[in-house]
Amino acid sequence: MPSAHTVFGEIPVEKLGITMPHEHIVLSYGGAKSDAPGYNVKSLADEVCKDLGQAVQAYGVGTVVDAGPTELGRDVAVQREVARRLGVNIIAATGFYRFTSGVPLVWQSAEIDTLADYVTREITEGVGPDRVKCGVIKLASSDEKIGPVEEKLFRAAARVSKQTGCPIITHSDPTGWAVTNVGKLQLDILLSEGADPSRIMLGHICGTSNLNYLIELVKRGCSVAFDRVGSQRIVPDEVRAGLVAGLCAAGYASNVMLSLDHQGVWFPQRSPATAANMKHFGYLFQSFLPRLRAGGVSERDIEQMTVVNPRNLLGF
Ligand SMILES: [Zn+2]
Repeated sequence: MPSAHTVFGEIPVEKLGITMPHEHIVLSYGGAKSDAPGYNVKSLADEVCKDLGQAVQAYGVGTVVDAGPTELGRDVAVQREVARRLGVNIIAATGFYRFTSGVPLVWQSAEIDTLADYVTREITEGVGPDRVKCGVIKLASSDEKIGPVEEKLFRAAARVSKQTGCPIITHSDPTGWAVTNVGKLQLDILLSEGADPSRIMLGHICGTSNLNYLIELVKRGCSVAFDRVGSQRIVPDEVRAGLVAGLCAAGYASNVMLSLDHQGVWFPQRSPATAANMKHFGYLFQSFLPRLRAGGVSERDIEQMTVVNPRNLLGF
């Protein structure tokens, strides 16, 4: 039976429960921690627990995937502290962030095999002194096209996923009203390396308003993630809810994931755009699921998207 690889080890996927597949426990850009006297695991965990604890209590959230690889402030010590205090499962990410705000020089110039070895080690041997094993591979692209460095990272990750079964979750830019082709480009690269589409969740795909584009993607066997729910400046939730309802009505509920891309803490502070549009971990359940129900999405499909689909993706 497949297991989910949490920060406290492998567990049967049946134990994941309601799962948010793209969130952040601590988000921090490269360099932010290098002159940071205020950085403290316990106080960061305090802040995350206040917010996430409410969602766990009110809505029964069982599992959170922290979608930040190391360049995005991944801190397995905070992840473990939060998981321990709240009794939730947290899954850490290996992989790479986008070229425009991540990818240090050492990776830019590395061979694909070296990059694949790094990702494999983070999955099979773990990170940090406690050897915490990662349970997803994060990938990101910066623009409407995927540049040569990002393409190399995608190819490395696809090979690791093919070999280990570890799921891939992505970040795509641009997000906005424009009908963007980036999700398709990401999928083309991953599948050309032999990755299994059922192991792939294309992220931030809710930056489109084109249902047919999404249907073309899910027909190829991957999942599409509405993982910026609540980010009204990108696309209003009303549009997202219409697209989710459309995918469910077309028979693709098993290819849809729901999440917020919320940060428990952004160190040292949130970007102005994020601060102006603050959410909380419970927002998905408090605001978006009722909107889906009102739009005709069945309880069965909601359970499929919030429990069954993440369970299928995260087990390997
Ligand atoms: Zn994110």
